[in-house]
Amino acid sequence: MVNITISFQAFILFIAAAVALFLTAFTVMIKFSMPKMKAILIKMELCTVGLLLFMALSYVFDGIKSPNGFIIVSVINAVGFLLICFILYCYIEYLTVLYMSKGRFNKLPDTLKNTFKLCVIWMLFSCLAVFTDRIYIIDENNYYKRGDYFYLASVIPLVIIVFLTVFIIQNRSIFKTKFTILFVASNCILIAGTVIQMFRFGDCFFEIAIFLVSVALYVFTLMEQNEELQLAAYTELKSGLPNAHGFFAIICQIIQKGNISNYNAYYFDVVGMGSMNNKYGDKKANEILISYIDLLRNWFEKDDVLGRLGGDFFVALVKKERTEEFMKVMSDSVVNVIINGNNQPVHVSSVVGGYKIDDTPQSPEKIMSKISTAISYAKNVSKERFVFIDDEIEKKLIEEKRNYDNILKGLENGEFVPYYQPKVNTETFELCGCEALVRWLKDGELIPPYKFIPLMERTDLICNLDLYMLEHVCRDIREWLDEGLCPPCVSVNLSRKNLNNENLAEDIHKIVSGHNIPVSLIQIEITETNDAYPLIELKKAVDKLHGFGFSVAIDDFGTGSSSINLLKEVSFDELKIDKTFIDYADDKEQKLLSYIIEMAKAIDINVIAEGVEEPVQVESLINMECTYIQGYVFDKPLEKHEYEDRIRRKKYPAIIQ
Ligand code: C2E
Ligand code: CA
Ligand code: CA
Repeated sequence: MVNITISFQAFILFIAAAVALFLTAFTVMIKFSMPKMKAILIKMELCTVGLLLFMALSYVFDGIKSPNGFIIVSVINAVGFLLICFILYCYIEYLTVLYMSKGRFNKLPDTLKNTFKLCVIWMLFSCLAVFTDRIYIIDENNYYKRGDYFYLASVIPLVIIVFLTVFIIQNRSIFKTKFTILFVASNCILIAGTVIQMFRFGDCFFEIAIFLVSVALYVFTLMEQNEELQLAAYTELKSGLPNAHGFFAIICQIIQKGNISNYNAYYFDVVGMGSMNNKYGDKKANEILISYIDLLRNWFEKDDVLGRLGGDFFVALVKKERTEEFMKVMSDSVVNVIINGNNQPVHVSSVVGGYKIDDTPQSPEKIMSKISTAISYAKNVSKERFVFIDDEIEKKLIEEKRNYDNILKGLENGEFVPYYQPKVNTETFELCGCEALVRWLKDGELIPPYKFIPLMERTDLICNLDLYMLEHVCRDIREWLDEGLCPPCVSVNLSRKNLNNENLAEDIHKIVSGHNIPVSLIQIEITETNDAYPLIELKKAVDKLHGFGFSVAIDDFGTGSSSINLLKEVSFDELKIDKTFIDYADDKEQKLLSYIIEMAKAIDINVIAEGVEEPVQVESLINMECTYIQGYVFDKPLEKHEYEDRIRRKKYPAIIQ
């Protein structure tokens, strides 16, 4: 009977195998963010379990001095070599996957490739050699001993591990310090285990070292996974900057440290990203943005915080003493980008909403709300590039919100009504049309447009108002037609904000045809503004309106900056000369005015003068062959029933001879 005794070494190895088996079971059960890692870990742990068990067996059978015993030990050793090689192979695989995912590389470095090859060669070599008497021999006393090549076989894994260690140290920036230390420490254990094993026959340091490394990798993977999950939740992936969650978390930390009042908080938005997209194309514009982020990253100091909420929206905490410098960076920064093969400087600036954090209690929510309010005030109300929020601004915004709600309610309750201001043809002094101008009848009071139109323009409510007015005007025209009156064409104002609506012309046509009104009775007035509204949108909308048969006028001509170009590009039917042009006309302006009238007529555009108050102005306009006139000289904007009288009366007294 074979007498089997379990040595201390074997006992240790059995325990380690049990632990490794336990870890394998855990690894199988846990959900990993990188499934590849999970597979590698399971493979590695299973091989470790196998190795530990086989090695334990080799200790169990070690003392058996029978020919069968030697064969068993040889087979166990061969399998042991094979498994060690597999484990090292898994280790290399693990590092490869980590390296590729971290550094986003797609090519394996040569060091790792060569290590792979070495690993495979060694595996074959060692397994075969176990069965020659080169690695293990049986001495004259029938003892199982190490042969000449044993040391060579053991040196190769040592070389592999040294290779890996060099590789890890070389790429420490990719693996992060904490993990580099963990890897290098694991490898040192392995190296130490191998060296000790080489000089001490009969111990199992190497196997235990491998076991420790597999545990270390397991722990590392869990830590890494945890960190990655956290990172993904707190980071904006494209730039690696903190996202809103990350920014919140950092604010919390600074508040806890009691340092928050050393900072100013900012919300900023890059100016003209849309036009950069148009000018340079999406890809280049993106490059510009990335260079801008890099520039900011360099400008920010260690204690400052820069976060990206997405797109070109950023948040920041900057030390108070650097406020002026920050304002400079925000107002103009130059990034260099290669455009058409040349390195070109591009100026980038941002609109900034700031909050000077004081000693009052702070919370991330409060800080975010302050800077969001500040930037929306800068963008929508004050049109400034840099706004620090204060009590006055907050009061104004609360007021604005109240007015907004009132206007919305007013629209729902039908409190807005059109007044009609006649247009007169001075060749015949006949009524030739009118302009519908909005008035707000609120609690018995008549509120003029200048008190609510600016807010409506800022908030896009103007689009609701314009269609509401059109609807109201159509209702009035329908009534007049039904009463047998013959109303002339009514001009309805349309803010340029409506150009964002792709179906604008269709919507207008739907309202007009819904009341069964000839399109010839409606004219659309679009204001000339200084806004850099894409001309192309305006042109498209005007063409579509023409397609439905509407006439289109350009309002306030002469007040904007792009007048002539606008006339060239867009085919308007009528040009309304602004009051300011007519009021202060000195000699030079008079000449200019008469050229404009002449030019408009030459390209078949009807001209009408607006805001005419004095008969002398009428006279001089007639001399310039501007025959259509709208102004107090004939009538103020009139209530519906007053205007009905004008329709009936048709003619005005000839105020000049
Ligand atoms: P606008 O379109 O240029 O309208 C002409 C403005 O000049 C009107 O002011 C009118 O009452 C005024 N006006 C006309 N003739 C004279 C005159 O001889 N002397 C003086 N001092 N003023 C004259 P109102 O009605 O206060 O409207 C102001 C502006 O509000 C309008 O300027 C227009 O831009 C806007 N608006 C009015 N109604 C609407 C509307 O329904 N939609 C849109 N989008 N804007 C509207
Ligand atoms: Ca107008
Ligand atoms: Ca006007």
